Amino acid sequence: MHAVTSFAHCHFIVFMTAVPDPPPDVQDQSETGFFGQVNQMFDRAAAETDHARGVLAQIRACDNIIRFEFPIKRDDGTIEVIRGYRGEHSHHMQPTKGGIRYAPSVNVDEVMALSALMSYKCAIVDVPFGGAKGGVCIDAREYSAAELERITRRYAFELARKDFIGPGTDVPAPDYGTGEREMAWIMDTYTQVGDEELNALACVTGKPVGQGGVRGRTEATGRGVYYGIRESCQYDADMRRFGMEPGLAGKSIVVQGLGNVGYHAAKILDEEGEADIVGIAEIEGAIYDPEGLAVDDVVEHREDTGSILDFPGATNVDTSAQALELPCDILIPAALEGVITADNAPDIQANIVAEAANGPVTSAADDILRERGVMVIPDVYLNAGGVIVSYFEWLRNLSHMRHGRMSRRFEERNAERILRAVDQLTSEEFDDGLMGTLVERVSFGAGERDLVNSGLEDTMAYAYGEVREIREEKELDMRTAAFVSAIDKIANSYEQMGIFP
Ligand code: GLU
Repeated sequence: MHAVTSFAHCHFIVFMTAVPDPPPDVQDQSETGFFGQVNQMFDRAAAETDHARGVLAQIRACDNIIRFEFPIKRDDGTIEVIRGYRGEHSHHMQPTKGGIRYAPSVNVDEVMALSALMSYKCAIVDVPFGGAKGGVCIDAREYSAAELERITRRYAFELARKDFIGPGTDVPAPDYGTGEREMAWIMDTYTQVGDEELNALACVTGKPVGQGGVRGRTEATGRGVYYGIRESCQYDADMRRFGMEPGLAGKSIVVQGLGNVGYHAAKILDEEGEADIVGIAEIEGAIYDPEGLAVDDVVEHREDTGSILDFPGATNVDTSAQALELPCDILIPAALEGVITADNAPDIQANIVAEAANGPVTSAADDILRERGVMVIPDVYLNAGGVIVSYFEWLRNLSHMRHGRMSRRFEERNAERILRAVDQLTSEEFDDGLMGTLVERVSFGAGERDLVNSGLEDTMAYAYGEVREIREEKELDMRTAAFVSAIDKIANSYEQMGIFP
């Protein structure tokens, strides 16, 4: 094997004894594509670590990618060929994990990029999975429910036949354009084609609660976005550095995308975080009201009229893209990738860009925002809530039991016992009425949703602390620090396996 290298005007043929880099293929071709952009972010962070070049190359590479073409019958009797993919980026932990999206933009580059982001995301929040992602190239709105069911079941069947799904192999979840309905179809198809597998329910997450889903999964990504933003806003020094007062209450927020992630993030930021949602953007345009918008009323208005535009009291903004440039403290792109580019980055007015979507800021835009002193809370950390709670769902399926089932009543009784003991120990006896009220207020056992939300909050807070520490120590931006955290953890797990002694 040889490689040609040039030195001044001379050309040398260098014969190498070491194992050469693999030949360039689609992994390396698209430096400007989405996977190329993720890799640029990776490389910037890798330069801050001292892991061996080969280890870094292995972490960066997308291990497997499979493409399917299959026919489905449309409702009118015609046959259409559908294209789908599944990419498994890293097997340093198994199973691999990541969503399945239905969007016309799905292609091999996007699937590889998104699967890579999943590996880094899982590592940052200590969820023991490798990264994966799948996609089907369709606009889901153009298909009936029956057609979507046929597409989903056939896609799941292909995944099962090719060994790209299974509780210990690769576990899909919802993503853009899919939800619990599709996950139920996937689970049902998997259980039908597989052998009678004890843990079959754990082959996919994001299922309806009645079919092995976990309470709190639907809103998990949005809730995680809330916890992540809240963490970012609590440090005095950081907030002042980025030109803001500490604390989330009263901050003005613009959200792009009112899908599952954007909707729940906006609602929880408003209701629990006491922030003001001043702008909301969707495909048809955007609305702006500096006094604040009630998220559920906007959703209801959209259901009634087919559009968020003309919402009472708000100003219409022509396009979703223009909404990104509205004045606000925090901008949350919560739809698709590549919406903040070198073209519009100079015009972003927000002090914080919170990446609820995957890859909404291109790497050129990222450079501009960094130079302009805008704080970017990166996707690989901020939208990890979905996969964190998927992990809880997967554990629930493997344990074959609802979280909290064995402890809830015990905790309730325990608190009651403590109150009664306090009552006996105090000289003044509580009257029965007061005791009843106290027992009701204080003694409750955590149900599944309480446990899920508490695990999510703790995980997001802990990971933020870790990433922030790297940022401070190495004087980096948040994204690079998050990638350093991921690289260190993945490299460590390879080293612990003895793969790279
Ligand atoms: N699709 C979500 C994401 O991009 C969730 C993945 C999962 O739960 O496995 O993080």
